[in-house]
Parts: sequence; C-alpha cells; structure tokens
Amino acid sequence: MNEPKFAFFEGKIVPFSEAKISVATHAFNYGTSVFGGMRAYWNEEKKKLYSFRPWDHFHRLLHSARLLCMEVSYDEESLLQIMLDLLHAEKWTEDIYLRPTFYKSDMGIGVRLHDLKDDLTMWSLPFQKYIKNDTNAHVTISSWRRIDDNVIPARGKISGAYVNSALIKTDAARSGFDEALVLDQNGHVSEGSAMNVFMVRDGVVVTPPVTENILEGITRRSVLELIRNEIGLPIAERPIDRTETTICDEFFMTGTAAQVVAVTRVDHRPVGKGTMGPVVSKIRELFEDAVRGRSEKYKHWVTEV
Ligand code: PMP
Repeated sequence: MNEPKFAFFEGKIVPFSEAKISVATHAFNYGTSVFGGMRAYWNEEKKKLYSFRPWDHFHRLLHSARLLCMEVSYDEESLLQIMLDLLHAEKWTEDIYLRPTFYKSDMGIGVRLHDLKDDLTMWSLPFQKYIKNDTNAHVTISSWRRIDDNVIPARGKISGAYVNSALIKTDAARSGFDEALVLDQNGHVSEGSAMNVFMVRDGVVVTPPVTENILEGITRRSVLELIRNEIGLPIAERPIDRTETTICDEFFMTGTAAQVVAVTRVDHRPVGKGTMGPVVSKIRELFEDAVRGRSEKYKHWVTEV
C-alpha cells in the first residue's frame, strides 16, 4: 500500500501511524462499522483534484450509520469539511480513494448495536484501476448468494456484510475470472462483489431496482442520469434473470472502485458479440469526463479540493 501520511482519527487529523484501534474494539470483533468508498480524480490540465459526488457518498454513509443504530454528531457538510482538511494535508497529485468509516469504538465483549460509542475515521490513498480488464471483463456466476435485506441490509455499506463480497471475489479470482455476478435468494442477478450491474437488451438499458438487495450505488445513479440525458435509450429498473446475460447485447458493471466495466463473457458464453459494445463504450467516455471535472454540464457532481 502506498502509505497515507495522515488520517482523521478520534476527532482530529493525526499522522497515519497513530490512527490505531485496540484488538478489543467492538467493530473489529463483530464487523459493526459502516464505510464509504469514494474517489477523487487528478485533472492534469488544471492541476487540481476533484472529489466525485462527496455529498452523496456522505449522505449514504449517514444512512448506513442509521442502519447500525449509530448516533453520530456529523452531517454531510461537516464530513465534507473533514475530507477537504485531510486532502489539503495530503496534497495528492494523482487519483485517490477515500475511506471514511463510522465504527462501534467501545471495547469489550457483547454482540449488540445499542449502548455503544460510535467514532469516525477517514483516510485516503493513491488508487488506480480496480479491475484490470475493464473493457473486456470475464465474469462468472458466483455459487454464493447475495445477502438479503432481512439478513444484513445490502443497501448499507456494512463492514461485516463484506465477508459476502470477499467470498464471491476470492472464489471468482481463484477460478481465473475478473469478477463475479451474484444472484439473490430469488435467483436474480443482484450485483458484482462491489459493483452494480446493467444490461442492454433490445435497445433498453436494464438494471435491478434498489429493492433487489443491491447497494444503492452512486455510480449507478450517475450512469442512469448519463443514459437518460446523453444517450436517450429507455431505462427499465427490473430484476435480471441469469440467462438474460447470455442473450443481451451488452452487460456492464459500475462502482466507485471499478468505475464502468464492460463485461464481455459470462462463464463461458460471450455477451453480445463478445467485445465491448457501443453503449458501455460511450458511457465510459462520458463518465471519465464528468469525474475529472472536464464536463461543464456535470460540474455539480465534483467538488474541487
Ligand atoms: N455494490 C456493492 C456491494 C459495493 O460495494 C459497491 C461499491 N461501493 C457498489 C455496488 C457500487 O456503489 P458505488 O457506485 O456507490 O461505489
């Protein structure tokens, strides 16, 4: 890991090496923390760093905190200020990833959510591609099932729930795939291990609705807006069956880390023509311009650091 120099920890910005929790911390023992995964992009022409939709990420983080009965004194604005203070201290001049986390910080034994102290930490690090083959990803259908809203809510970024994503990712990687698609308990394609999914079928862009045990992705929401405004194809938010991955024209995945990834093979069947299609290719271009602060129309999505 390219070492960060600073972290926000116990109410202030400290040297990264001082941001340490105890082995007895509740969140470490029981997975009782919630986190955000955000990116900021370096714009080489302007020599500036742009954070992508930070307010929306902090808004979702606060919702995740509510799911774990956390009582936090921060709001979107104060979290934004901490992010800016941290990034001003770091002075990165490359693309970075930002990781804010609310965690149950009390020490001791006892599984519960109530009567526990909640704390915030935030740190950042340089970050490039998450999926190497992002124009021709080869994915498998995972044998693991997606967690259900009545098991651990998938719409929150809850640390403990990411064991599900880790099982999905490792089995896919060890079998030689770039990623995996995971089915929910009803057998519908819900997401990748850490990304939302889309298909283009007969001129309609289809993505599962937020009630299909998915994370309410901020990239997903942005891509839906780009499709609506710039591509003009009809959109259907409805469940996707696994066999539709075989007969659709294009399939792609979206996420902060993954960005926009074209899937060209699912297990051993090609998607469409087996190469990146025109819709995902266009979305990748539009997305790249928006996140780097190069698009006037989507300037409101980025915050200058
Ligand atoms: N699903 C899961 C399970 C994820 O972890 C992520 C990454 N945060 C996503 C979808 C994509 O969400 P976003 O676009 O907000 O990063």
